[in-house]
Amino acid sequence: MTIKDYVVMEKAKLKTLVESMPVKPHLFIIQVNDDEASTTYVNGKLRDCAEVGVRADLMKLPITISQADLIKEIDKLNKNPDVHGLIVQMPLPKQIDEEAIKFAVNPLKDVDGFHPFSKMTACTPKGIVDYLTFEGITFQGKNAVVIGRSNIVGKPLAKLLTSKNANVTILHSKTKPEDMNFYLEHADIVCIAIGHKGFLTGEHLKKTAVVVDVGINRFEGKLYGDAEPNLNVALQTPVPGGVGLLTRLTLIKNLIEAYQHGI
Ligand code: NAP
Repeated sequence: MTIKDYVVMEKAKLKTLVESMPVKPHLFIIQVNDDEASTTYVNGKLRDCAEVGVRADLMKLPITISQADLIKEIDKLNKNPDVHGLIVQMPLPKQIDEEAIKFAVNPLKDVDGFHPFSKMTACTPKGIVDYLTFEGITFQGKNAVVIGRSNIVGKPLAKLLTSKNANVTILHSKTKPEDMNFYLEHADIVCIAIGHKGFLTGEHLKKTAVVVDVGINRFEGKLYGDAEPNLNVALQTPVPGGVGLLTRLTLIKNLIEAYQHGI
């Protein structure tokens, strides 16, 4: 099944679940930037919420806001029992430390899964593992290679794959090319999240490999992944229409989970 069809099916299930809830889960998004890509992501999240029937609000704050004032706003929402999920859209203006903001969100409401004590798993890794599981991919004893070690994708994805008993190797910008080739040749599952258009070619991959392309690279008005498209492998997630959709779907799942923790 394509990721698009999978997401439509999963959203329909979530909509039915939400219809049965007397009080609807409520997401609150804080945006502190005029960034075009962020606005597109925020609008996408608001549309998803409307589609599934959960409540969503957006608060836009001036880009000159101080870190202390932003934390005060977060704190009000942390304490508001009517708000079940809270997102602070990244990136943030230079005067604000993103890590401090991730720590400021109540872990019970942290639907992005960025806080170290969050009850929820980060959206992109969880979305990937849920989809691969739906596709019948198993993880136990598989060689999984994660290229990229960011706190929002690479590291939590490696952790999640480890919890599924995969043999996980994390590669990064300091990995020697010959070592990267070695690990790719032995990989059953390759997840790439580095932000380099077409970095992963099929050269060293097994035909039975599964390739998860997390990268989103804008080039001449179009979106490209970190892998070359149409590799000769068993399964490859496309860009666009791939991991981005899974991430958005998982945000709604995490919101419902946060709501259920709170009742
Ligand atoms: P990031 O914070 O930009 O970090 C990039 C990672 O890639 C770093 O760990 C870096 O290694 C590694 N890297 C860079 N160049 C490399 C190279 N030549 N070889 C091997 N590793 C290399 O990462 P991110 O925030 O996870 O984003 C990565 C990509 O995923 C971006 O395109 C982003 O837009 C996309 N993304 C997509 C979604 C989605 O829902 N589809 C969600 C989040 C991010 P070092 O640690 O050594 O610097």
